[in-house]
Amino acid sequence: MSKPVIATTSLAGCFGCHMSLLDIDERILPLIELVEFNKSPIDDIKKFTKQCDIGLIEGGCCNSENVHVLRDFRKNCKILVSVGECAIMGGLPAMRNGIPIKECLREAYLTGPSTTANTGHIIPNDPELPMLLDSVHPCHEIVKIDYYLPGCPPRADLIWETLISLIKGKPAELPYEVIKFD
Ligand code: SF4
Repeated sequence: MSKPVIATTSLAGCFGCHMSLLDIDERILPLIELVEFNKSPIDDIKKFTKQCDIGLIEGGCCNSENVHVLRDFRKNCKILVSVGECAIMGGLPAMRNGIPIKECLREAYLTGPSTTANTGHIIPNDPELPMLLDSVHPCHEIVKIDYYLPGCPPRADLIWETLISLIKGKPAELPYEVIKFD
């Protein structure tokens, strides 16, 4: 029987949720026996090569590329899971949502304390750069999300319990002890 296939990505996130996935420690060995990884920074596969069973999404959407990648995951994954506060609510990047985008860029590149190296006073505008969105969106505002794993990051045990349930084809039952909000 073929193994369930998992894909993961980081959108506007810090990779802390991926670090938490790796924090399942020695359980990574049975996990590799149980599943096959497809598109993911874990195996460095850049493009989907087959339809996946489970997609784990870290981070919300702050630019056009994030939206494109998220829609691609929705198209290629039967079950989509928002992993962590950035995916669920926008997280730290969404702190810019109350500030006009022009003001954010001016502070980041022209007037903020860390901009002294920007001697050309340039705000990056290469056409290859993805367009920033006016605000940062949680994933469920862009596509349908099936499960939400809270935490910053969610505990490794929570990620493990959820993956095992989903791999076995059961709805994820999340005991109180494995859920934390911070
Ligand atoms: S939820 Fe926390 S750990 Fe996960 S990507 Fe966001 S800031 Fe990083």
